Amino acid sequence: MVGQISSFTLHHCFVIGHLSLVILTMAITVPRPTLNWRERLYLPAIVAGLAITFKHFKNMLLGRTKVTMQYPEQKWDSSLPDHYRGAPALVRDEDGRVRCVACQLCEFICPPRAIKIIPGEIPTADRFAKVEKYPEQFDIDMIRCIFCGMCEEVCPEQAIFLRKDYAITGFTRADMMHHKEKLLEIGGIMHGVVLKWNERK
Ligand code: SF4
Ligand code: SF4
Repeated sequence: MVGQISSFTLHHCFVIGHLSLVILTMAITVPRPTLNWRERLYLPAIVAGLAITFKHFKNMLLGRTKVTMQYPEQKWDSSLPDHYRGAPALVRDEDGRVRCVACQLCEFICPPRAIKIIPGEIPTADRFAKVEKYPEQFDIDMIRCIFCGMCEEVCPEQAIFLRKDYAITGFTRADMMHHKEKLLEIGGIMHGVVLKWNERK
């Protein structure tokens, strides 16, 4: 029986190997184009490129094209698209409670491991005891954050959102660490259903 299985497996390996060889030998060779003397000089392409540059230069002189922005006096903010993803922030609900329930899903999913959460326990006598946990510490290292939005996607409590802030600066590494209080200050209040705290859930 073992011998039969081995020969069966060997036969299939041979067939798969043979098929791979056939596919490999079927590879298409793309021939390099033969350039004529004009194309080998590259001059027509250079002239065409310069013509585009001069066209933009002329439009800029005539005030038809604006190619620079006086940042930071002028900002992008009003032109940012709805789907723009900026820095992440934590939000509170209408009653001022932190929505995050310290499930740590965002910490787990964050690709550059920018999030660090230390959960705290909610006392059993508390009105919201069924939530069990709250974030005692919630830090996002903004040097690491790549604004990918995975934390927002994965959050079951709609507690973390990517806002439109993109100018996140600081003089030290410590400045770039957004702690819970700062994240909540940036996030503000978000209206809507909070699943675990909703008595009907
Ligand atoms: S936006 Fe992406 S990188 Fe930034 S904290 Fe969220 S999951 Fe991490
Ligand atoms: S922000 Fe959302 S995903 Fe992250 S720990 Fe809090 S509840 Fe969980």
